[in-house]
Amino acid sequence: MMNRRQFVSAAAAGAAMFARIPHAFAQTYELIIKGGRVIDPSIGLDATRDVAIAGGRIVAVEPNIAASAPDVIDARGKIVAPGLIDIHTHAGRSKEGPPLALQDGVTGWVDAGSGGADNIDQVAAVARGAPQIGRVLVNISRSGVVSPAGELHDINLANVALARGAIARHRDVVVGVKARMSENVADTNDLEALRRAQEAAAPFNLPVMIHVGQNFSPMRAILPLLKRGDIVTHMYAPPPNSILDDQGRLYPDVAAARRRGVIFDFGNGINGHFTWDMVERTMKQGFRPDTFSTDWSVASKTTGVVDFPNVMSKFLMFGMSVSQIIACATVNAARVFPAFDDRGTLNVGAPADVAIMELRDGAFEFVDNYKSKRTGKQCLFPIATVLNGKRIPARA
Ligand SMILES: [Zn+2]
Repeated sequence: MMNRRQFVSAAAAGAAMFARIPHAFAQTYELIIKGGRVIDPSIGLDATRDVAIAGGRIVAVEPNIAASAPDVIDARGKIVAPGLIDIHTHAGRSKEGPPLALQDGVTGWVDAGSGGADNIDQVAAVARGAPQIGRVLVNISRSGVVSPAGELHDINLANVALARGAIARHRDVVVGVKARMSENVADTNDLEALRRAQEAAAPFNLPVMIHVGQNFSPMRAILPLLKRGDIVTHMYAPPPNSILDDQGRLYPDVAAARRRGVIFDFGNGINGHFTWDMVERTMKQGFRPDTFSTDWSVASKTTGVVDFPNVMSKFLMFGMSVSQIIACATVNAARVFPAFDDRGTLNVGAPADVAIMELRDGAFEFVDNYKSKRTGKQCLFPIATVLNGKRIPARA
């Protein structure tokens, strides 16, 4: 039988053994991000922390990790967030897109309908070759996006059998179906195009993303065709047929759609997709985006969409906190598509995708899709990205 003294010394030996464990782990860290303001809304964290990475995963998030690693990022004065997830891009249009987005902190993206049945193979190939997780929505029009002419003027292009074939060929990267509903894309075919998008998606149990704004049909006719998990992008598109009535009040149908699980996404874009007035009026009624997205392509990077952190920063002007805007671009976005299930978080054990950004104070000019300017007091800038535990430098 063990007497009290033996027991104490056995416990002490145990404690000493445990005390050595962190040190043993420390020697295997591959990267430590030191001293940043870690903002991880998935676990409600906003504090100065070190983040240690090994084997491509987050292994510790603690106030002071006293260890060395082959790579150390000094993040003092910077924001350390989960890698950003951009659910509405056109990154799949060219193989230059995904690496450019990665430099902006985007460690996961969805190409929203660049390709339809006739040209999805190329978009899917770009997604498969991307350094980060790239996924694709199949356009219900077999032609994919035709801009500016519009791909749904001829409803026969919305071919359900061909769209299903495209999904079946690319189950590894296709995560949904896209329908662009604006009158300049679809004429009076918006509702029929959406019905066909749902029909194509149904056997695969996939969501549909609709692009709204200046559609022929009103929101109250469109929303009943959406199911839980579907996404409305360009939520702040101005009239005709916006989410606000003639008096600027949010339609009750819109709030009801959110309550039953329809997701509302910002979708910055460059043309016709948002006005400051729409954002302001809607935000004042408490109807915020679930997710942000850029709607950028390599081409629009030079003509309006600067980068994802810049798009996120616009909402600081409308009363959202830094933590709230990061939530929209990380954990909220990750919940939209199962492909991002284990992303959007810096929780221990998660794949080590990290966006390091700087929140600068000053006077920053932001432009809406109608060339109207607003000046914000703060803006996020991409500084560095970590993908699967490896550092990728930001663009110059
Ligand atoms: Zn788009």
